[in-house]
Amino acid sequence: MKKRLFALIMASMMVMGAMTGCGGSTDAPAPTPTEGEETQGDAEQGGTDVDMSNVEIGVCIYKFDDTFMTGVRNNMEAQANSLGAGIELVDSQNKQATQNDQVDTFITKGMTALAVNPVDRTAAGPLVEKASAAGLPIVFLNREPEPDVMQSYDKVWYVGAKAEESGTMSGEIIADYWNANKETADKNGDGKLQYIMVTGEPGHQDATLRTEYSVKALQDAGIEVEEIGNDTAMWDKVKATELMNAFITSQGIDSIEAVLCNNDDMALGVIESLKANGYNTGDASKFVPVVGVDATAPALEAMSNGSLLGTVLNDAENQGIATTNIAAMAAAGQEITADTVGYEITDGKYVWVPYVKITAENYKDFQ
Ligand code: BGC
Ligand code: CA
Repeated sequence: MKKRLFALIMASMMVMGAMTGCGGSTDAPAPTPTEGEETQGDAEQGGTDVDMSNVEIGVCIYKFDDTFMTGVRNNMEAQANSLGAGIELVDSQNKQATQNDQVDTFITKGMTALAVNPVDRTAAGPLVEKASAAGLPIVFLNREPEPDVMQSYDKVWYVGAKAEESGTMSGEIIADYWNANKETADKNGDGKLQYIMVTGEPGHQDATLRTEYSVKALQDAGIEVEEIGNDTAMWDKVKATELMNAFITSQGIDSIEAVLCNNDDMALGVIESLKANGYNTGDASKFVPVVGVDATAPALEAMSNGSLLGTVLNDAENQGIATTNIAAMAAAGQEITADTVGYEITDGKYVWVPYVKITAENYKDFQ
């Protein structure tokens, strides 16, 4: 079966170009051609028919029970269907050994491309060796392998986002709140911002860099900060509620002037705890500003009811589409370029999907 890829690719490029408005929610469908496509006529002459009949993409997701990765994998599946490429997605259940076996099985079954969201990003090397021995392209996503692993084989790519960006944006959201609410935000009136940091999984580049850059953004805004709590909730909502309950007990709720969370699930978990203590339910005198990252549907909902101050769009849709396009095109023997996959390729191997700051002003555009 031959499928014309061109329209879909151009649609992805348009999304990349616009990066505003629609497409924010993690369960949004892959972009479809719109009237704007008319203007792409010139480029269409360069479009190729690519035979996808032999493309079978084997995908391992670190664990299915992850809100953000669920958005990514749904978009991957939808995109493979649009391309007419075969796809099979498996749950690595947060175990690297399980994932290694799944990759072996995919190779034995004759899959023609691999896409892997590693359980342990420092354990990507052996997966590249397996792919290389079988001559298969392998696209990593969301958990970035070490540079030497990325360079160890010519058919390895990475699709992700610059975590620094999301850290900076989430810090700026809190900084803006602090500056706009000078009287009330500094609850103890000491001129410093007392905050709690709720981090994702240790070792994940997004956890490390979001933490570092969110604090840096506050300091760059000239705010004196004091960390009064910092712990991991492993990207997980329930764990974040428990953590926040413990912080409230140990610190006292009124000493907490902001909570920075490495993702939305944890921000929502923190909000559960605040609500149980009578905070963030609409009474302006009982409010703790909380930020997350991802812009999941429930997070945008929490913004609409005022319990979540802000978040940062981690674009599951474009990350999913880019990963699938690269895997499918490489499996079909195409060179991987911006023209063939619809996304700029940095250093021949990386696609960086931009983050978008989500505040009260623009969240409705992403719902
Ligand atoms: C997301 C988290 C997610 C993690 C999984 C991050 O980019 O922000 O929500 O749990 O990836 O690896
Ligand atoms: Ca203070």
